[in-house]
This record gives sequence, C-alpha cells and structure tokens, in this order.
Amino acid sequence: REFTVRPEIMEFDPYKPGLTIEQIQAQYGLDTVIKLASNENPLGVSPIVQKTLDRNAAKVFRYPENHSPRLTEAISRHVGVPKESILVGNGSDEIIDMLFRMKARPGKSNVICYENSFSMYRMCAKLAGVEYREVKRGEDYELPLDKLAEAADEDTAMVIVTSPDNPTGLAAGIEDISVLAGVLPKDCLLVVDEAYIDFVWPPESYTPVQAYDKFDNLVVLRTFSKAYGLAGLRVGYGILPQPLAALLKNARIPFTVNLLAEDAAIAALEDDTFYNETLSVVMRGREYFTEELRKLGCKVWPSQANFVMFEPTKPAQSVFKALLRKGIIVRPLASFGLGKNIRVNVGTDAENKQFIRTLGDIL
Ligand code: PMP
Repeated sequence: REFTVRPEIMEFDPYKPGLTIEQIQAQYGLDTVIKLASNENPLGVSPIVQKTLDRNAAKVFRYPENHSPRLTEAISRHVGVPKESILVGNGSDEIIDMLFRMKARPGKSNVICYENSFSMYRMCAKLAGVEYREVKRGEDYELPLDKLAEAADEDTAMVIVTSPDNPTGLAAGIEDISVLAGVLPKDCLLVVDEAYIDFVWPPESYTPVQAYDKFDNLVVLRTFSKAYGLAGLRVGYGILPQPLAALLKNARIPFTVNLLAEDAAIAALEDDTFYNETLSVVMRGREYFTEELRKLGCKVWPSQANFVMFEPTKPAQSVFKALLRKGIIVRPLASFGLGKNIRVNVGTDAENKQFIRTLGDIL
C-alpha cells in the first residue's frame, strides 16, 4: 500500500541528527566512544536534578500541569521578566515551530535568517509552508545583522538571529540587536535564539533580555539542553511580547512539556554549583581548543558558545571519518553548507586532551 501526504511533505528532506554513541560502537567495534558532536553538557546530569527525577518517577501516571506554571514562575524569577511573557516548550525547537506555524502565513509570509544556520529554521519554514530567505554572511562568516533589515519587507513575519551562533560560535552585540529590532518593518518579529547564551563572556555585553522592555517585537529563545544538561528531557522557553505569548498559549497542543521535565528544569535552575562548574569547564575547554587547534595549523573561529568551529589542514570529511574510527564523534558541517569545517563541542578536560592528541595524529 502506498501512502500520500501533502505534496510538499512528500519532498521533505528529513532532519539528520548525528550518529549515537551506540551506533558508532557497533559500526567500528569500539568499547569507548567520546561524543563531542551535539553540544551537550560535558558534566552529565546535575545531582540535584537526578534526585528530583528519582523522586518524581512514581508520579508519571499523572498528566503534567498544562503550560508548566511552576516552571514558568521559576524562569520568570530567574530571568527577571513577567511570567505572562514566558512560554515553556518541548525544547526551544517547539517554540521555534510554534512561531513559524502561528505567526507566519503559508504562501504569504517570508522568514529571514542568514546562510549556514541552524537547520531547524529552514525545516520549520518548510513545514509551515512559509518562504525562507537567507542573507549572505560576511567574508569570514560574520553575522550580517545590517543585511537582515535590508532584506525584510512588509510580508516578513520574522527575522532570526542566533547568538551565539551555531555553528560558528560568533555572537552579536546588544547594540547591534537593538538597532535591528528598531528598524524592522511593523509586524515583523526579531527572534534571537540564545540557546548558547550562558557561555557568553562577559555576559552583560550580549543578552537582549536587557532590551526586552524597550521593544515590543523581540522574542528571545533559551534552552535547558546545554548549560543545564537536560537535552534528553526536552525543555526550552521563549520570552515573548505578552500579547503574543497569550495568543500562542491559546492555540497550542496541551502537555508538551512532560511531568519529569518541569520539575527537573526547576531543580536545574536551583543548582548553581553544577551550572557554574559547567561554565568553568566550557570556558576553559574552548580556550584550550582554540589554542591547540591553532598550534595544529587549523583555522579557528573565536567562540562564545560551548563548541568551536575549525577548518582542519586536511579535508573535513576525511578528518571526521578518521576521528570516528578512533572513537571520537564530532560534527562535520556539510549539512550547514560549510563543507570545509568541523564543529567540536567542549567535553571534560580528559576528553578534550584526547581529542587534540588524536587529531594531531591524523593531521
Ligand atoms: N537553537 C539552536 C541554535 C540550537 O543549536 C539548538 C540545539 N541544537 C536549539 C535551538 C534547540 O534546542 P532544544 O534542545 O531546546 O530544542
């Protein structure tokens, strides 16, 4: 029997996440594998979160509370914005998807980002039937914030900036974000995806939450998947203009954030020790990578995230394969349109050393 769906979905290019540790172990006959490919937390799970999960396991026969009110309150206190502006989702991916489906009009609206960006935006545009426009980056992949405003027109539903950017690690300054928010056409949202904001240094120079009160067209996206170590539980949130948050809440599928995830995220916000330790491991690791990769002759981009993008001295795909054979998974960037480059996330100090040693043997 043949099945059909909407024609544009039949042509869909599916999202291809990297291989899992288990898949690599089986394929290459390896006992141990180091995964530095998905920008996950090198320290694993916070012990406080672990305890919370254990305690709550017996409650999973209950539905969670809709819209995660306790987590929304906790985020509101943590970030310092009213709870009416916060929308919690099943990963920030869910908020991105909701924004595309509910803000943009199929066949009528366009969404603008720059090239070589996080693939979810293009995917959500396709799913929502919305035109996706890509603006060229600078010579060295700089974020072209000025060109985003030029490309916007009266049909532009959203302009998206990822800061710090995936996969380059480059970050936009608060002044540039503010300028962009101020010049976009009426009805056009500026979405700033801050999945990696925790790793920015110094923190005050970047976060648009400071600009939150000044603009009524600003959406900020954040996640618990990186600095808080909850990638597998799927929790993220958006900070939105209050009327927009209210509209999206009305029209969403209920219970997308599960019962374990809500309490785990609340616990994660309370575990300052784990959070600060994560930041110090990541900042130390990215400095180490930047120095050591340069010593190996690679071109390295200055990163404000928990990963580093580099161009190896040999073809990226062959370097990726050689690393895999030695049990190290990194992310080759062909799917981002950056076929010469590789992204490696910071691991534990020992993993980072092993990665550099192994890469040195390959190059
Ligand atoms: N935005 C960017 C830029 C990302 O890199 C990621 C994670 N890969 C996400 C959003 C999605 O994060 P989440 O796990 O919260 O869905």
